[in-house]
Amino acid sequence: MDDTIVAISTALGIGAISIIRLSGDNSIDIVNRCFKGKNLNTVESHTINYGYIYDKDELIDEVLVSIMKAPKTYTKEDIVEINCHGGIISTNRILETMLNNGARLAEPGEFTKRAFLNGRIDLIESESVMDIIDSKSEEARQLALISLKGNTTKLVQKFRNELKQLISQIEVNIDYPEYYDIEVVTLKNIKEKLSDMKKSLDNLIKESINIIPIKNGIKTVILGKPNVGKSSILNKLLNEDKAIVTNIAGTTRDIVEGEINLDGIILNIIDTAGIRKTNNKIESIGVEKSISLIDEADLVLVVLNNNEKLSEEDKEILEKTKDKNRIIIINKKDLKQKLEIPKNITNIVETSTIEENGVETLKNKIKELFKTEKIKTKDYTYLTSSRQISIAKQARNYLDQVEEALEKEMPIDIIEIDLKNSFDKLGEITGDSYTEEIIDNLFENFCVGK
Ligand code: GDP
Repeated sequence: MDDTIVAISTALGIGAISIIRLSGDNSIDIVNRCFKGKNLNTVESHTINYGYIYDKDELIDEVLVSIMKAPKTYTKEDIVEINCHGGIISTNRILETMLNNGARLAEPGEFTKRAFLNGRIDLIESESVMDIIDSKSEEARQLALISLKGNTTKLVQKFRNELKQLISQIEVNIDYPEYYDIEVVTLKNIKEKLSDMKKSLDNLIKESINIIPIKNGIKTVILGKPNVGKSSILNKLLNEDKAIVTNIAGTTRDIVEGEINLDGIILNIIDTAGIRKTNNKIESIGVEKSISLIDEADLVLVVLNNNEKLSEEDKEILEKTKDKNRIIIINKKDLKQKLEIPKNITNIVETSTIEENGVETLKNKIKELFKTEKIKTKDYTYLTSSRQISIAKQARNYLDQVEEALEKEMPIDIIEIDLKNSFDKLGEITGDSYTEEIIDNLFENFCVGK
C-alpha cells in the first residue's frame, strides 16, 4: 500500500467535469510536478487550487485541484482530486500524465479497499458504499445507508460481545475449576444465553433474507392457468399496455419481462412462460415451466379466476407454492363467484382488472410482505448482502455444535472452541477477521475509481 494509485473516478463520457483521483504518499508531489499554479506541496489541507495540468511542456487542461492530506480523507492517505473539463480525451490525457509521473493505475475498488485496510471503514460499510452506487431504487439506497451509518456493524458487534462474555466466563471456569459453584451457574448460563442468541440470529437471518431482494430486485414468478388475467394484472402494475391481452386462452403476445418499479420496489419478473405465446400459434403453454422456477423466486403471485371452479391445475399450483412468499390474487371479481377458496389459504387479494379494483391493494400487500416501510424506520437493522447472511449462517451452525456438545456433556474447553469459531466467523462479516481471498473477492466487484 505504499504506492500511489490513480483512477478516473467519474463515469467516462462527455460531461461538464471529470475527476481524476490519486491516493498515497506521493499523490500531492506527483500532481504538483505537472501543475502550474500554487505550490501544492505547501498549500493547506482540504483546499481547492486553480491552475493548469501540463504533460512536460504541453498544456493539457485548466483544472481545479483538491488537496486532502491524511488522515482525514476517504482512504486515510493523502488524496488529490483533479477536476478537469469533462471529455474523454482530456481526462485520459491527465490520467496518462499521472501514470507517467509515478502513479499506478488503481484496481477496481482499491480506494475503498485502502479505506478498509487503513481502518477507516469496515467490510459492511465498504459493501454499502458499493450498494449506494448500485442502488436502483429509493428503498435500496435507504438500505445501503443504514449499513453505511454503522448500524449493521453495531448489531454484529453486539452478538460478538455476547459470545466474548460467554467465552470469558468459561475461561474463568477452566482457570478456577475448584469453584464448583461458578461452574454450575455458568453451564446453565451458557445454555440460556445460547438459546437466546440462536433465536436472535435466526430472526436476523430470516428478516435479512427477506430484505435482500429489495436491494437486488424481487425475483417474481406469476403463476396461473391461461386466461385468468396474469398479463392484465402485470399491465396494471406496469401502468401501461406492454403485454397484449386477448380473450383466447394462452394468447398473450408481447412479453412483460424484466423490471417493474412499484413505487420504489423493483420486481424482476423472472418468467412469463405461463403467459407467453410462441411462433404466433395460439397455444396455451402449461404452467410447468413457471413451476420449475418457483424455487428461485422471492415472490410468487398466484392468479385464480373468481369466475371458475378451482381446477386440478389450480390445486397443483397452490400446493407447490405453499411454502413460498406468496400472494393469491383472485381476479375477475366483477364476474359471478364460482371459485371456492380452500380455508387454509392466506394472503389473498381480490382484483378486477376490468373495473380496475384491487391493484393498489396488491401493491400494498407486496410492500407489506417485504416490509419496505420498516426500512424507513431508523432502528431497523439487518444484514445487507448474501455474503453477510451466509457467514451469519455458518456462525449460527457453530452455536448448534456448542449446544450439542453441552447436551453430550463434553469437556468445557471443547465447547469453548466452537464458541470461538462462531465469534471469529461473525468477525468475517465486519472484517475484524479476514483473509486476503475474502477481501479480493469483495473488492473486485467495485468500479474503478471507487
Ligand atoms: P392470461 O392468459 O392469464 O395472461 O390472461 P389475460 O390477462 O390475457 O386475460 C384473459 C382475458 O381475461 C382477457 O380477455 C381479459 O380482458 C380478461 N380479463 C382479465 N382480467 C379480467 C377481470 O378482472 N375481469 C374480467 N371480466 N375479465 C378479465
